[in-house]
Amino acid sequence: MKHLFAIFGNPVSHSKSPLMHNLAFKGLGYDGCYNRYKLENGDQLKEKFFALGLKGINITVPHKEHAYHACDELDPFAKKVGAVNTIVERDGKLHGYNTDAPGFLKAISEFEEAKKVLFLGAGGTAQSTSAILKDAGYEVTILNRSSKRLERFKEEGFKTYTFEEFSAQPYDLIINMTSAGLEDEFLPCPQYILAEIIPTADACIDVIYGKETPFLKLARLYGKPTKDGSDMLLYQGIIAFEYFTEHAYTFDEIKEHMRQAFIL
Ligand code: NDP
Repeated sequence: MKHLFAIFGNPVSHSKSPLMHNLAFKGLGYDGCYNRYKLENGDQLKEKFFALGLKGINITVPHKEHAYHACDELDPFAKKVGAVNTIVERDGKLHGYNTDAPGFLKAISEFEEAKKVLFLGAGGTAQSTSAILKDAGYEVTILNRSSKRLERFKEEGFKTYTFEEFSAQPYDLIINMTSAGLEDEFLPCPQYILAEIIPTADACIDVIYGKETPFLKLARLYGKPTKDGSDMLLYQGIIAFEYFTEHAYTFDEIKEHMRQAFIL
């Protein structure tokens, strides 16, 4: 029987996930099909999941919190961070996972010496990725435009600053976790701050993929190594695929096929 999967979000038209997962299904000979579904009302997530006869979904902006609440069972990490981007149905129950954070952790593993990390941004992605980095032994500092979203990070023991409070220190990695540069040409923080911190960094990373953001352009002008969000996207997809197929394939087997989505 063909297993059906989808990405739920709004918007979803730009998503690479259908291509990534369908390439892996085809390449590995798994009888699955992955579509996109524009979900306007996050409260209807569970109802739509069952109405469409799905086996699993990925969830993107703005429904990761709705997805968290729709699940019957939560993986401990997803429970800790309050955000679910992968759901698998088993015996009529929805099981929720967060694969963004382990995907990101793997994506930055190439910077072996890095320990001190500065996050620009304090949204949902920063929340799950900061938690996994902290558990993995990184020292994470959060710099955000406004103070509201910093409260939760402060409670969890992170050093947090708004632009006005910040005083520059050396960081090994500077990571844009904001949506600045996604659909505009904004930098994630004032240029005078970047001029202080980029020169002492080993590398600059962006979670945005598919374009060179103003942040990465600036980092390149300073001669710094840069990395966009493509590997994070690929790795979160591979880990989701492992759950979708109940770990029938290894990470590397899935990667061999899914990575084709980035070179087509
Ligand atoms: P949220 O909406 O939860 O958070 C947005 C954050 O960006 C906030 O900290 C906000 O600051 C800040 N921000 C937005 N615009 C600006 C700006 N012009 N200047 C400075 N700060 C700004 O977003 P998410 O965490 O869901 O997503 C963040 C990014 O991560 C997106 O670009 C998304 O595409 C990307 N992403 C990439 C993935 C991948 O696989 N590569 C996976 C998931 C997300 P404030 O609090 O002041 O409003």
